Amino acid sequence: MTVLWCEHAWLPDGPADAVAIEVTDGRIAAVRPGAPRAGTVLPGITLPGFANAHSHAFHRALRGHPSPDARSFWTWRDDMYRIADRLDPDSYRRLATAVYAEMALAGYTSVTEFHYLHHGPGGAPYDDPNAMGHALVDAAAAAGIRLTLLDTCYVTGGFGEALSPVQRRFADAHADAWAERLDPFVKVDDGDRVRLGAAVHSVRAVPESELPIIAEWSAGGPLHVHLSEQRAENEACLAFYGRTPTAVLDYGGVLGPDTVAVHATHLTGDDLTRLAASGTRVCLCPTTERDLGDGIGPASELHDAGVGLCLGSDSQAVVDPFEEARGMEMHERLAHGVRQRFSPAQLLHAATDGAAPAVGAPADLVTVALDSVRTAGTAPLGVLHAGGAADVTDVMVGGRWVVRERVHQGVDAPAAALAAEITALRED
Ligand SMILES: [Zn+2]
Repeated sequence: MTVLWCEHAWLPDGPADAVAIEVTDGRIAAVRPGAPRAGTVLPGITLPGFANAHSHAFHRALRGHPSPDARSFWTWRDDMYRIADRLDPDSYRRLATAVYAEMALAGYTSVTEFHYLHHGPGGAPYDDPNAMGHALVDAAAAAGIRLTLLDTCYVTGGFGEALSPVQRRFADAHADAWAERLDPFVKVDDGDRVRLGAAVHSVRAVPESELPIIAEWSAGGPLHVHLSEQRAENEACLAFYGRTPTAVLDYGGVLGPDTVAVHATHLTGDDLTRLAASGTRVCLCPTTERDLGDGIGPASELHDAGVGLCLGSDSQAVVDPFEEARGMEMHERLAHGVRQRFSPAQLLHAATDGAAPAVGAPADLVTVALDSVRTAGTAPLGVLHAGGAADVTDVMVGGRWVVRERVHQGVDAPAAALAAEITALRED
């Protein structure tokens, strides 16, 4: 048994002082506020681990390379495709290991990877057709982070359009072929550190007639889908199907309580009603949505309609769960001219996907300094508004230390690894 003594800890009722947390077999065995100082002392505030609900690890290679030509989402996508075309299972694993280490250092204890880079150049399958998926499983294990691997179905290059050469690496011939490819891969799901789920890339990439195959395959497990990130997608969808992307997903049986719609930036009132009625949740990616000029989604309208919200780093333009949580509230302030649309507790709920340090829960914890130049003098309740990834000192996943005193315990020199992998990928 490990005993942690937290100067402050955010419990289900809010921040408390002098909290002893007992950890046995990777789970929380007891939580005692007002406890005498004993065991491993954690100054600052200890929070439930942050959950990164939407990630494309390899997009990290696009950060900090401003291009005067990348003036829209679609030209950014051309840059992203150039990086995608250069990866192989080894470089994918090395880059993802460093990216997941960066996430752990930022306080993420889990990542949901929306994985669509399946095949070799030109779409030729690797000897193991799931080699790229295995690379991500290995990367998450090395970085000590929990992984929900969403194997993403991708069939068409656009509405009724053929695949471009690089898109062939993403694609299976049909949703049936996608499901068949996964048959030997399901054993990666150990029900604990690695979970396998499904994703529909988007209504652009999977025909409506094939959606039920994916919904059926994933029944009872996580199913994610990119939804209405760009107005152009909505317009093309309406022109092709005569329905919005949300309605197409609804007709295809994709919406439901195990489904997470990612972005949901440009919704009609009918879309919102369909999401709420089906129990579908929404993952906002505020730093990506601002980076790509997507627009500001209807976060408080979704929340008020009863749609659960979670948060993701998506394109890795920023890997900082504090910034995502703040972004959810700050975008609301800009859009509506009012403050405090979301309380600190609601922001934490979204950033941790509802996790709480309660008895029986996995011991996934993150400790944040309250004595940095950013956080000094702030109230523990304001940690998400004042703090940032650089203030994370310690991270525990399943009772094991992944980060201690700002140092990753499993990956040597993550910054050097990021630099080496990204430089190699971007070389002319
Ligand atoms: Zn995405």
